[in-house]
Amino acid sequence: MNSALVLFSGGQDSTICLAWALARFDRVETVGFDYGQRHASELEARPRILARLAREFPAWAGKLGSDHLLPLDTLKAIGGSALTENMKIEMGAHGLPNTFVPGRNVMFLTAAAALGYRRGIADLVGGMCETDFSGYPDCRDETVQATAKALALGLGQGVRIHTPLMWIDKAATWALGKELGGQALVDLVLEDTVTCYEGDRTHRHDWGYGCGQCPSCKLRADGYAKFIA
Ligand code: ZN
Repeated sequence: MNSALVLFSGGQDSTICLAWALARFDRVETVGFDYGQRHASELEARPRILARLAREFPAWAGKLGSDHLLPLDTLKAIGGSALTENMKIEMGAHGLPNTFVPGRNVMFLTAAAALGYRRGIADLVGGMCETDFSGYPDCRDETVQATAKALALGLGQGVRIHTPLMWIDKAATWALGKELGGQALVDLVLEDTVTCYEGDRTHRHDWGYGCGQCPSCKLRADGYAKFIA
């Protein structure tokens, strides 16, 4: 059976990656990471989204396997990021916003590959994207593929990392969601996924919930406006 393990945070991108995997693999497991995020909104969204996918998408329901949640609180202990500490989002060192969590994706992929090893899964799927993003160096294709190579060497078996969003912008990500799961998937992403850096679930916009002010909300709003235009 061909199986995939999706890095699933509860956000828009990883939910569409999950749909992408469900359309291609026979069995799909999910993994999320508790790294000491300032808010619990994303982690709370995960079971809600999984339950709705199982309920509303019968063709995918039978493929959904175990969901895993792993602690990676090392990132919180290291600190210094607006995602793990109560600080204003602004430009930080090295020309990067202070929402950058150094090494996050490399750690996520390492933990996911180790879990995949135990689960007999060599195909990982992640929402990393070089286009239309904040310039996080760990989202680059070169970083992701070099990590896959290091993990394959370190585990002594193949590791493939699929990044269906790598070369597309946010508008195209919405379009991919629609192509995979129709308006029903677009509606699910709008209603249940959390993208906002503040984890705001009180303000509902046409593009979903969020503070509407943080860089992540702005990116989501702009992408949605372009998608429906
Ligand atoms: Zn926001």
